[in-house]
Amino acid sequence: MSDEDLINLINAAYVVAAVLFIWGMAQLRRPSTARRGNQYAAVGMAIAVGATLFNPGIDGGSAFIWIAAGILSGAIIGAFLARTVEMTQMPEMVAVFNGFGGLASALVAGAELIRLNDLDADIDLDIVITIALSTAIGALTLSGSIVAAAKLHGTMNTNPILIPARNIVSLVVAAAVLAFGVLLIVDPDATVWYIALAAAALLLGYLVAIPIGGADMPVLVALFNSYSGLAAAAAGFVIGNDVLIITGALVGASGLILTSIMTRAMNRSVTNVMFGGFGQSGADVTSGDGEQRPYRSVNADDAGVMLAYANSAVFVVGYGLAVAQAQHDLRALADIMTNKGCDVKYGIHPVAGRMPGHMNVLLAEADVPYDQLYDIEEINRELENAEIAVVIGANDVVNPQARSNPGSPIYGMPIIDVDKAANVIVMKRSMASGFSGIDNDLFYLDQTSMLFGDAKKSLKSLVTEVEDLVKNG
Ligand code: NDP
Repeated sequence: MSDEDLINLINAAYVVAAVLFIWGMAQLRRPSTARRGNQYAAVGMAIAVGATLFNPGIDGGSAFIWIAAGILSGAIIGAFLARTVEMTQMPEMVAVFNGFGGLASALVAGAELIRLNDLDADIDLDIVITIALSTAIGALTLSGSIVAAAKLHGTMNTNPILIPARNIVSLVVAAAVLAFGVLLIVDPDATVWYIALAAAALLLGYLVAIPIGGADMPVLVALFNSYSGLAAAAAGFVIGNDVLIITGALVGASGLILTSIMTRAMNRSVTNVMFGGFGQSGADVTSGDGEQRPYRSVNADDAGVMLAYANSAVFVVGYGLAVAQAQHDLRALADIMTNKGCDVKYGIHPVAGRMPGHMNVLLAEADVPYDQLYDIEEINRELENAEIAVVIGANDVVNPQARSNPGSPIYGMPIIDVDKAANVIVMKRSMASGFSGIDNDLFYLDQTSMLFGDAKKSLKSLVTEVEDLVKNG
């Protein structure tokens, strides 16, 4: 087979891979098809990688040893991480992956620059421009993502780090990135501009990430996810690889959409996240006049009675459920209630937890039936008629201040209206605030009962209690 025929076949395989990526992404829209969507995309990736191995440009033996070594070590590390990383550590793992994606793109661009210079060829303008873009965006993504991961992990101070005249310093470094990029484009033979560009972009990524508070990091991670896609698309242009351009564009676009969904659901803008400093640890942000307000606390026995006799119940879950890893216990409780005839529904807020879809993933782990999952608009239509709403480890996403207090930092954020249910049980360990650091008016309402304790322990007690009550009629 001629090289040309081979390239045509490889490109045909890339088209199949691209269709599988897009089809797989479309399946991610519903929890019931998400797993299949992931599998389609994985098959697409296997086809893309497999087809690339037939590229006539790969010159034999030793190249394949390097490729095999890369694939093997990547697969081992990936499989190990997938098995060991906790659900709550997912955002930092995604941050690290984005960073490595950026690094790979910058290295591919650098390798191609060196190769073309070795050939003493005249480098086309479009190629050198994409080399510069891939290097700049890739390096920026690498350092920014490493800072994001370190902040999320707690290795680095999670509060915003505000250096003096930070906007001016960032502007100067951004200007340097631009200047080195132009110098590289004008004089691609001088690899020193590639190194200078990568170094300045690394510094810029660091400067972009440090002023952002740990709690806002997931939004930045989504933004860097988009950048890593753009860097990959640019690298695709550099080496003339269509599937890399397509996947890069898909990641770039989906990262941007994700960023926009997250900021909208938090009632924030990207600029506000980048420059607002809202993500400070939050413990010092309080609402009201500091006066202690009365609230009602119940034990598991009392809460169990309320649940055992309820005909309709809405469970609203949040970050605390993920921390406690209590999804299976929640499912057990819901099953007992469903089996005795209670109409059980789960309300899912788009930014509950610490990453988009966090609660969907958690409940899917416990095989919660998909038809019991309701999104925010759907569940808000049900809550007025619900006998009881049970809040498990959620706080901000059920805080009525978002509707009623224009001075509140979360004012305008859509919330799940659990305060409209006839009775509310809130399960958490204390009266402490959630992510936004503000007090929650829900806890002080007449119909609210606080059930204090770790969510897993509380749910286990409730399972025993409700089971006994149901069994004994
Ligand atoms: P919150 O962070 O508002 O509240 C979680 C609550 O869980 C805390 O008040 C805590 O109270 C409780 N909790 C923690 N550990 C446990 C445990 N082991 N058992 C029982 N309760 C526990 O979470 P929400 O899910 O309500 O809201 C998410 C917040 O995160 C929103 O403000 C959102 O804007 C923000 N955010 C979300 C992102 C996303 O993509 N999902 C991204 C970035 C930010 P206590 O300590 O008393 O137990």
